[in-house]
Amino acid sequence: MQSITTVVNAGRLLDGRGGVLDDATMVIRDGVIVGVGPRGTVDEPRDARVIAADGFTVMPGIIDCHTHLGGASSADYSTWVIEDDLRQAVLSTTQMRDLMDWGVTTIRDISRNGIRLKWAVNNGHLDGPRIIACGPGLSRTGGHGDAHNLSIDMVQRSHPWGMIADGPEELRKAVRTLSRMGADAIKVWATGGGMWDKELETDQHYDLEELTAIVREADHLKIPVLVHAESMPAAKDSIRAGIATLEHGEELDDECRSMMLEKGIIHVPTLQLFIGPWFDQYPPPPRVGLEDWPGETMAQKEKNRVIANFTASREAGITIAVGSDSFSSIEVPYGASTIEEIHAMVRVGMPALEAITAATWNGARALRIDGVTGTLQEGFASDFLIIDGDPLADITHLTRDRMVHIQRGTQVWHDELSPKPAYARRNDTGRTAGSVQ
Ligand SMILES: [Zn+2]
Repeated sequence: MQSITTVVNAGRLLDGRGGVLDDATMVIRDGVIVGVGPRGTVDEPRDARVIAADGFTVMPGIIDCHTHLGGASSADYSTWVIEDDLRQAVLSTTQMRDLMDWGVTTIRDISRNGIRLKWAVNNGHLDGPRIIACGPGLSRTGGHGDAHNLSIDMVQRSHPWGMIADGPEELRKAVRTLSRMGADAIKVWATGGGMWDKELETDQHYDLEELTAIVREADHLKIPVLVHAESMPAAKDSIRAGIATLEHGEELDDECRSMMLEKGIIHVPTLQLFIGPWFDQYPPPPRVGLEDWPGETMAQKEKNRVIANFTASREAGITIAVGSDSFSSIEVPYGASTIEEIHAMVRVGMPALEAITAATWNGARALRIDGVTGTLQEGFASDFLIIDGDPLADITHLTRDRMVHIQRGTQVWHDELSPKPAYARRNDTGRTAGSVQ
């Protein structure tokens, strides 16, 4: 393919690492940024294609550190294990498309299909985001990644995002099995998640010995471990074991936070799960001292407690990254929930620029691809969005309807600023895919 250079003239460019540049130019070639700086200072080849984004904001593509592209057609915890795996594989492609439609150009995914989707995208069979694939996550018997009313055999064969293993020996074998499947990272449920009767968020599911066995085995393979921990003791054991990122982590204390800082552990708080409206229908787990928090209902008290925990992490200087935990299109819609996570962070007091860093550069660090993407700087992938608006002035400008250009590398997913090539395809959302840079 002939190499084409594109010049993007931005009204404002956010580099993803806190840098703000007005009247900027970014030059890209073959999916890579080859120059970026104030207008007039960057070398622009004469035959370059120009995107005039003068009145717009240019920023890196969004990184969602926590998705489940399970492809379930139902939000029912048993149905998604029983229903046809191939049908789920097909539906997972639409979940992936939804993420791209909302400007999510990189994900870390926990599901069986994520590994297959990564293969399809990397080999050019499907357009889609950059995928860091975990495969299924590790759950104890009777844990969050189990389906308690079905046979263990069925769960092990077709749970969309869970794999059962108990004790250090089985866990070592499971990490090796996941690596054999192609896992780039290992997801672990160190606590329950509140789906089944016997797996409360406050129940610890793996002890320090088990968590240490997982991390050691993953270290041998040079892949990071991400841990779902919704209780303080489980978070503490996970941190001690040397995990890379803490998922949810809505109950931390000062000791957790200082160990996270010391070890460089990144927090993926999935805030919108806890403070969004749909959570109101679920009773909060029985936490010690919850009744002492302000709020008229226990759900309101839990929201205030989660927000205070998030703020304490942020104020302590812990690196925070964005993860939606989208696991079904019905309950946690793909892409929309990623954006909602960024909005939620700002709503509870995080400055907009910091929330954008959480959604871009910090995500790249969490996924250990900060040499590749997450910032608009020379040498990085041309994963970027053009926003009709100013998300720094109003974070709600960061929304699908204002994304006039969505690009991942050479893949132009959506483009309203250039004349459409005759062969452009339109998907059912009315967005254009398949044009070339
Ligand atoms: Zn999850």
